[in-house]
Amino acid sequence: MRPELTETQLLGMWETGHGQAPPAQALLLAAAAAPPGEAVADLTLADLNALLLDLREESFGAALPCATDCPDCDEPLEVSVTTDELRVPGRRGMPGPVREPATLLAGGHEVTYRALTGRDLLAVDPASPEARRTLLGRCVVGVEPAAEVLPDVILETLAQRLADLDPGADTVLPLTCPHCRHTWTAALDVAGYLWAEVEGYARRLLHEVHALARVYGWSESDILTVSPARRRFYLEATAE
Ligand SMILES: [Zn+2]
Repeated sequence: MRPELTETQLLGMWETGHGQAPPAQALLLAAAAAPPGEAVADLTLADLNALLLDLREESFGAALPCATDCPDCDEPLEVSVTTDELRVPGRRGMPGPVREPATLLAGGHEVTYRALTGRDLLAVDPASPEARRTLLGRCVVGVEPAAEVLPDVILETLAQRLADLDPGADTVLPLTCPHCRHTWTAALDVAGYLWAEVEGYARRLLHEVHALARVYGWSESDILTVSPARRRFYLEATAE
C-alpha cells in the first residue's frame, strides 16, 4: 500500500486537524498512512514516526529542507535531511516489532515500564508544568516495592531508557556548522514538520479553488478533479 495523500484527503485532514493540538494532528497524519482500522493512538512513537516518514516521502518527496542557527556562532544554517537519514534502518511501514515492557532498577525500586504511545501524548497538556512528569509516569506499569510518588531519580532513569525501548521515538539529525565547525544534534519533529506542509498545501490549494471558481464558475469538487498541472495552466491563462 502506498500511503500517498490525495488532494481531497489532504484537504479533509487539514479541515479536521486545523487548530487542534499537535498530538491530535500527528495522529490524523499517521491514520492516513496506516492500514485501514489500525488504532494509531496505541502505536508507539517510533511506529508513528515510521508511518509519518513513509507518508512524507510518498506525498512530498524524500528530502526535508531545514533551517536552523548554529548554537555556537549564531550563523544561519540550511540543511537538507532525507527520510532515510531519519528512519531507523530497515523500518518502513507497518507493523513495527512489538515492544514488551522492560524493567529497570533505580532508587531502590524495580520499575516495569512501557514505550510511550500517541494516546499518552493526547492525554497530557504540554503547557502544564507537570507535563514531562505525567508523561513519564504513564509509562510505568509496575513498581516494586510500591511507591506513592515516584522519585525524580526513577523518572530520569526511565526517560533515558525509553529511547532504547523504542528506537526511532526521537528523530534527531547530526549537524556541523560550515562556519565554525561546531557539531551538535537537533531534534526534528516529523509530525510538526509534515503538518506545516499539509497546512501550506491546503491553503495554496484553496486559493487556487477560489481563483478558478471566481473566473470560470466551476464548483470546488470539479476543480479538485483537475490535475495540478492543468490548474496551473488555467490560472496562468486567467492572468493573460
Ligand atoms: Zn557555527
